[in-house]
Amino acid sequence: MTVLARVVFPLPLDQSFLYAVPEAFRASARPGARVVAPLGTRRQTGFIVGLTDEPPAAGIAVKPLLEVLDDRPFRDERFLEFTRRLSAEFHSSWGEVLQASLPPSLALRTKVAVALTELGREKLAAKGLGPREKAVAALLAEAPKGRSPIFLRRKTGGKDISGLIGRMEKKGLVRVVRTQAAPPRKAGQDPIARAVQLGLAFPEPLRDPGVLAPLESAVAEGRPGGFCVFGPATARREALDLLVGRTIGSGGRVLYLFPEIAATGELAARFKKAYGRTAVVFHGRMTEKQREEAWRVLKSGRAALVAGTRSALFVETGPLRLVVVDEEQDESYVQAENPSYDARRGAWLRARSEGAVVVFASSRPTVEAFYEAGRSGVLIDLGSGPPRAGVTIVDQARDVPLISAELERRLRANLARGEAAVLFLNRRGYAAQVVCSACGGVPRCPRCDIALVFHKAEGRLVCHYCNYAADVRKGCAGCGGAVEVRRGAGTQAIEEELARLFPRVRIGRFDADAAGEPRVREKLLGDFARGRIPLLVGTQLLVHHPGAPKARLVAVLRPEAILGFSDYRAGQKTFEALSAMLDFRCDSPDAEAVIQTAAPVHFAVAAAAAGDYRAFYDREIEFRGVMGYPPFSHLAEVLLQGRDVRTLGARSRQLRAAFLKQAPGLEVLGPAFAPVARIKDLTRVQFVLKSADRGAIDLALREALPKVHLKKTIVFSYSPFRA
Ligand SMILES: [Zn+2]
Ligand SMILES: [Zn+2]
Repeated sequence: MTVLARVVFPLPLDQSFLYAVPEAFRASARPGARVVAPLGTRRQTGFIVGLTDEPPAAGIAVKPLLEVLDDRPFRDERFLEFTRRLSAEFHSSWGEVLQASLPPSLALRTKVAVALTELGREKLAAKGLGPREKAVAALLAEAPKGRSPIFLRRKTGGKDISGLIGRMEKKGLVRVVRTQAAPPRKAGQDPIARAVQLGLAFPEPLRDPGVLAPLESAVAEGRPGGFCVFGPATARREALDLLVGRTIGSGGRVLYLFPEIAATGELAARFKKAYGRTAVVFHGRMTEKQREEAWRVLKSGRAALVAGTRSALFVETGPLRLVVVDEEQDESYVQAENPSYDARRGAWLRARSEGAVVVFASSRPTVEAFYEAGRSGVLIDLGSGPPRAGVTIVDQARDVPLISAELERRLRANLARGEAAVLFLNRRGYAAQVVCSACGGVPRCPRCDIALVFHKAEGRLVCHYCNYAADVRKGCAGCGGAVEVRRGAGTQAIEEELARLFPRVRIGRFDADAAGEPRVREKLLGDFARGRIPLLVGTQLLVHHPGAPKARLVAVLRPEAILGFSDYRAGQKTFEALSAMLDFRCDSPDAEAVIQTAAPVHFAVAAAAAGDYRAFYDREIEFRGVMGYPPFSHLAEVLLQGRDVRTLGARSRQLRAAFLKQAPGLEVLGPAFAPVARIKDLTRVQFVLKSADRGAIDLALREALPKVHLKKTIVFSYSPFRA
């Protein structure tokens, strides 16, 4: 009987391959084990994802596995199924997801060296080798440490070099040595904190713990499901502490995900204080030794709480009862590069596979989560916090100095008190902003209701969903006022203006240009915290920097730039970014904030200024509903990139036809140039696929996309509670 193994590889392929399992590997070749197998002309490390003893279709020759690397599979079949579903949902390579889920010690690339044996040396001298064997042996005779198969192939011009090496190895002519390459030193990895022995302390009870009852009973009874916990920071933290404490107290295990911004160690310290050695926390700046200790705790099965940023999703924890996604709205849960996935959906799928409860917690959840939770009766409302006070909005529709007179006055008074100030300017997006000079509105597509993007060369405003275009001279659709193109003032211009207004004051700039290096960033923030730099100008980079210090005065300049993003989520992104920037105010009761904006009445700006999530949500969900955007539909944004514009155009027209043929009910917008239409020598074209049925989108992508051989990225709309 032939046993066959289904193997996936950490390559951008969405298929698996069948291999015969040689007798010698029967015991170790289990699903989840890593193997070496021939793929094309190479040997490639992959993962067994299934076994079968059904004979392959007639006429199909199946090659044997070359090696099984693990005596025991590194993960169980339940975990395999979880990663399969995750990769399927995001149309990512299953093998790449498995590779990303390997513990660091296993994820290292193996270096293969082929060396000549004594026997090989003798045979070479005695001229007892075939011509190809001789060529390889001659090369190896000069290299005592051996050579890589790639080197040998290049030098001999041989096609099936791995086959040849395999045969020579069997004859005892060569030795194949596999060594693990040294781990790459990479910033931003997630080492694990050292767990310290401390007493098990239970957190303070919540003021009204009754509100958590449905959630608690689901965890206690082991009923899988999802909840959204909504409430101000303090109440939310108490609720989560209570929930985590009770789950662990009753012998359950918890996986706790937090965004990168929270990875400062404060959360880790809190967990370790409460749960001692049973808490394993991934966060930045841990030593190799501490990391080893953490893995030891994990392996021993004593870890009751495993916490970390999005990659902690793949940590082997043992059976889970509760999965927490804190600060659910944070974009750092999305991994954009391959293998792309959203860790929030990953949390849902993993909880599902383990029969655990998943909790999405936030003070300003995504409208998708808030809507879906409300509709399925799993929204736990901890009540709203106090309104945000002390925020002044300066209307900049007509008057456009970089620093308004009002802001200048407050900055001056703040400096006179010896206090620091932070000025935020969102420079992400596009150099030129288009706004109506009369009403301050951003021109929008009449069909898609997303912001139009200005194309200077043709003097046109273009929709990047449906390709609608309008002459910029036509004026504002809302009020008829003249549409004006504003040169986007950058952080540098703000810095110069501040230097002109306050010549004696030291000014720091925290953006990708001035603070690109981590060393520079830390110095800048250190100086700011110590009061050596009283004025700091920053971008989103500062907002997302863990542990950045707070200030008495915060100013946000032109938050409406985000409203100009050609994206149906522009409102949510504006509310979130503006709220996060306003949160930079220190806790002092007389701390103040100034928002300088051309869109003072936009609901996202007004609601963020007031700290009123529900006011924002009501308007945003209405917009999504009217336009049929998520959560009222599913969306996939497909980005294609190519060097040759003509080929790209032809391929995308074919693709459009193929999409429509696959799923006739599907709404296909595009092809249109992407908002960033060119990066270096690559032209970028995008499609938007829209449907009430996610299955229709999946079908179209699965059938049509593999035929297009271009660099492609897909971003899916977010639907946290989708079954
Ligand atoms: Zn107008
Ligand atoms: Zn449009």
